[in-house]
Amino acid sequence: MYHNEHTTVYLNGEWKNVEQAKVAPYGQTIQNGNGVFEGLRAYPTPLGTQVFMVYEHFERLLYSCGVMSIKLNYSVDELVQLTYELLDRNNLKNAYIRPLVYLGENMDLETAGKSNLFLSAWEWQPYLGNRLLRVMGSSFQKPNPKAFFIEAKVSGHYVNSILAKNEARAKGFDDALLNDMNGFVAEGPGENFFYEKDGCLYTAPRGHILPGITRATVMQLAQDLSIPVKETLFKMEDVEGADGAFFTGTAAEVAGLESLNGVKFKKAWEDTFGNTLQQAYKGLVRSAEAHIVDLV
Ligand code: PMP
Repeated sequence: MYHNEHTTVYLNGEWKNVEQAKVAPYGQTIQNGNGVFEGLRAYPTPLGTQVFMVYEHFERLLYSCGVMSIKLNYSVDELVQLTYELLDRNNLKNAYIRPLVYLGENMDLETAGKSNLFLSAWEWQPYLGNRLLRVMGSSFQKPNPKAFFIEAKVSGHYVNSILAKNEARAKGFDDALLNDMNGFVAEGPGENFFYEKDGCLYTAPRGHILPGITRATVMQLAQDLSIPVKETLFKMEDVEGADGAFFTGTAAEVAGLESLNGVKFKKAWEDTFGNTLQQAYKGLVRSAEAHIVDLV
């Protein structure tokens, strides 16, 4: 699904067939989860294949490295250039791109010295599919932001996401919605969350979430379309039976919800702000306008 015998990947300065990209089992990322990654998407546009918000994603990768004391000897410009070469070498025009910075052998509990850069890409449909999602309020909370750098994309953070998703799937739901440690709604396992009530959208403020690039894009689109958005704390009870709701993320794009804890949202998806923003997002990422800023 993610690769085949022709897949080319980038590993530490070399382009390799994926079969030759081996990871040692003693590494600190595989043993202890201290590695950082990104998820980007490339779209066909009138300017050719363009990676949406490519600079923002690599700036976040460098931020994630920084807080984890991981040294990465690449600039944002170099990472952008390598990403386009990766797409070119794999002849991909509509793709998900997964950069990973992983660490070598070190059983000591401090960041291991040398980092490795691995870049891979593959064709991927919207991660959560195209149908409306049945979501459950998770019994798992997001971690205390004083325990982790919550705004960094660190491999180990995703164990929390996997627990929430496993629980939701085991109970027959499609996905999970997690509270923060104080009992306010935070986000999904790998997506930010918005809900609509009485003509306004609501989303959790920064503090206990990964403030996504898609979240920021959707908030800008909402402003352009005169859709009011409030960043505020709210509870699961406020969301249950509201007018509509959706997740946002690079992999998921804008994904509508059917229900929370079995309680359906009131409006038909087609009549919600979520649907309007989903269409606007699909158009934006494939437009020339979204990428001209990146090109200059
Ligand atoms: N929250 C979490 C926990 C995530 O993993 C992601 C995916 N990176 C998001 C939100 C959405 O972020 P973005 O829109 O930047 O992909």
